[in-house]
Amino acid sequence: GDTPVRARLSELLRPDLQGQTAYGAPQLPVAVALNTNESSYSVPEEVVAAIIARVAQVAPDLNRYPDREFVDLRTALAAYLQIATGVELSPAQLWAGNGSNEVLSHIVAAFGGPGRVALGFTPAYSMHPIISRGVGTGWVDGLRNATGAGYDVDAELAVQQVGQHEPDIVFLCSPNNPTGTAVGLDVVEAVYDALPRGIVVVDEAYAEFARPGTRSALTLLPGRERLVVTRTMSKAFAFAGVRLGYLAADPELTELLRLVRLPYHLSSVTQAVAEAALEHAGTMLAMVEAIKAMRDELSTATAQLGLKPVPSDANFVLVGGFADAAGAWQVLLDRGVLVRDVGIPHHLRITAGTPEETQTVLRVLSQSIEDGS
Ligand code: PMP
Repeated sequence: GDTPVRARLSELLRPDLQGQTAYGAPQLPVAVALNTNESSYSVPEEVVAAIIARVAQVAPDLNRYPDREFVDLRTALAAYLQIATGVELSPAQLWAGNGSNEVLSHIVAAFGGPGRVALGFTPAYSMHPIISRGVGTGWVDGLRNATGAGYDVDAELAVQQVGQHEPDIVFLCSPNNPTGTAVGLDVVEAVYDALPRGIVVVDEAYAEFARPGTRSALTLLPGRERLVVTRTMSKAFAFAGVRLGYLAADPELTELLRLVRLPYHLSSVTQAVAEAALEHAGTMLAMVEAIKAMRDELSTATAQLGLKPVPSDANFVLVGGFADAAGAWQVLLDRGVLVRDVGIPHHLRITAGTPEETQTVLRVLSQSIEDGS
């Protein structure tokens, strides 16, 4: 008989996922990797020792499932946030996952889904739409401001778009990736008030790098049961490899997230390692000021080269003014420097690394400008 025609796997894919592209920051072996906003500093020796000791403690019990409610970790995260921001939080207000990407996916799985809509203000973190669409949530690309000059979010325009689309979830990213700018709390409040039935997520992955005077949206949590603030240990904590992100919200909201997480989603090893690092928070965060200094150096020096850095509250700078951003990206890569082409014409995003890495990227940029490439 006839050979049955095999369906192509891409045709079996959910129709709403067909044609979508996956997250794809290149992972390349280069001398200077400044493309994913990691910390360039390795984990300090004293913390390495503490991590090894904690893992040794839990290792014999790895035959058992981990604490499903990760109570000790939630307690440690609440204590850290109180020291960092002055906001008093109960462990029940904390929730964690394997990276803040996972806690974002928990929020979307619980409050989004088919027939529902999420709104973000573009350009912002590229995973917000990917995570939303992943569970069938509609996505609306909102405008940050009407003029297109700069990347500040205009509160009035944000409120207008919230009214127009009546989203179930609104994402605000502050400081914003890839532009670097923080969003004022007046914008968060205005969006929250304009949205009687939706969840407002403030993604504060880069909060620890914000310039003085920037207040965390954590200070807005009391009395706002639909507000969620997400954070991560991947950036300021220099702990991207561990995969530990977290959020703070109303205890009732974190309780609802238990409906969508997979049981035991945080391994005993992850919990132990994160707790050990939180006990050494001061040491883990010791390089933040040095990184902020390199962030400011990147801004000053690229402006002197005639490029157009966007003011940044994060550990990276979005630099405009490239005649050909893709060409400049390749020139940098050919000289061992990997930065990020985020798809904004004439712009590249550069992570603030060590002083040596900063000098290297600036030297290569200045040479390539002289060469006219
Ligand atoms: N939010 C923002 C704004 C980010 O830039 C990132 C990392 N690129 C994340 C969340 C996710 O980081 P992680 O999953 O490592 O916590």
